[in-house]
Amino acid sequence: MNIPDNKWFSADKLHFRRTKIVATIGPSSSSPEQLRQLIAAGMNVCRINFSHGDPAKHIKIVRRIRKVADSMQQIVTILGDLCGPKIRVGRFPDGRVTLKDGSKVLITAKNVLGSENLIPSQYGGIVGAVRIGDRVLLDDGNLELRVTRKLSAGAEAVVIHGGVLKDKKGMNLPDTPLKIPALTAKDKKDAIYCIKGGVDYLALSFVKSAGDVLALRRHLKANGSSIPIIAKIEKPEALDRIDEILAVVDGIMIARGDLGVEMPPQKVPLIQRRLIEKANQAYKPVIVATQMLESMIEHARPTRAEVTDVAMACLDDADAVMLSGETAVGKFPVEAVKMMDAVLREAEGYQFFTNGGLFKDRSGFKRDTMLNAIGVATAQMSRDLKVRCISVLTRSGRTARIVSADRPAAPVFGLTENRETARRMGLLWGVYPQLIKGAISHDAFVKKSEIVIKGLKLAKKGDYMILLSGLSDKANEITNSITVHQVG
Ligand code: ATP
Ligand code: MG
Ligand code: MG
Repeated sequence: MNIPDNKWFSADKLHFRRTKIVATIGPSSSSPEQLRQLIAAGMNVCRINFSHGDPAKHIKIVRRIRKVADSMQQIVTILGDLCGPKIRVGRFPDGRVTLKDGSKVLITAKNVLGSENLIPSQYGGIVGAVRIGDRVLLDDGNLELRVTRKLSAGAEAVVIHGGVLKDKKGMNLPDTPLKIPALTAKDKKDAIYCIKGGVDYLALSFVKSAGDVLALRRHLKANGSSIPIIAKIEKPEALDRIDEILAVVDGIMIARGDLGVEMPPQKVPLIQRRLIEKANQAYKPVIVATQMLESMIEHARPTRAEVTDVAMACLDDADAVMLSGETAVGKFPVEAVKMMDAVLREAEGYQFFTNGGLFKDRSGFKRDTMLNAIGVATAQMSRDLKVRCISVLTRSGRTARIVSADRPAAPVFGLTENRETARRMGLLWGVYPQLIKGAISHDAFVKKSEIVIKGLKLAKKGDYMILLSGLSDKANEITNSITVHQVG
């Protein structure tokens, strides 16, 4: 690798951070003031995990986020995360219990308060499904039990690796064959809350096939909604069927917590790299999630390994990186977002000024549609002409998504009159949504784009910008015009 002179590492040379930051909202981050600080620190997407807390309260937080974002004149995307068939433990006195190595515990499907010898599971079929010798992993695999006996009261297990177990932590059964529907009754109810609350994306956990995504899509459609869907990739089955999943879904999340429990953890880094590449090739956004700055739940500074992980996800071409417990329940939520922002800017500065990454081999990309061909041509021209911005007039956000996947050198301004579209574009790598009032003519589009770019002091007279729009079509969005414009 050709490491450039230090001066090229000046991260502030890039006006915009391209990689987006997703932050999970929870008790540490849901007050208006906390939200304001997180947005100011660079949070682009709020994730609300419907596995925890009460759905009605979550929707209140959705409204609060909208209010705070509007008051700051910022566009913030909201991602509702549906639990899917994730098995979790129930509740314990004071919210936690300590399991001792070698002790015996009873796993029950009854909805009771647990103890250090009693683990309630939210999965009704658990006692019937597990077999003697099966592993039961708790809290993303931090704790491990092994089933020793099946009793009428439940499954008896021995604690192999103990520790603190908190309410509603995940329970994985990697050895047990399970038949659980992809879209649970709770997911269906939570999805209705999300439709009414107006979230911008829905994530579905434990997706195994395209059919799982389509089941949620049908449910949304039946309820008059077309919220785009992010498939959480965390099952080996999903890896086997990733192409069919990518064909129907609107984006993926590499959910490394459960993935690293369902698969040996050493497999996760290369699976991550391959999934990012596959998502890029499918022109769909990809989020890298879980434990990115995990130590910042407790500490003001991350480990060097965590910093490297964030930078590597960026250099690998993720659209977005995610914070989970760091912002939901951590002691330093704002610092975590600031740290992520700083790490990404540094990595992107390197990427931009060395062309590392921006010139990756994209020969695997499909070029057989007009829009895809326009995408690659735009990215190429953005480098050749050193354009200052790419301005896209879009109704659905599709053009911005296609252009983003080719990783152009210049920021993409997604101009739209549709608020939902503006917010959905917020997740895409390098795309900056701009709300415009009402439909505009091509001339007005050129003018408005110039105003935006000059307002940001990103271009001077003579600089190039690229404009993409559908020239003729009013009803359907068809991008069929590329304009190379010289700033006047
Ligand atoms: P998933 O597998 O969907 O990521 P998770 O249990 O790992 O589920 P995260 O969203 O990753 O949950 O958040 C990390 C931790 O933060 C959770 O385990 C939980 O303890 C806490 N948390 C997250 N959201 C909330 C919330 N809304 N209310 C209370 N605690 C929350
Ligand atoms: Mg998970
Ligand atoms: Mg998690």
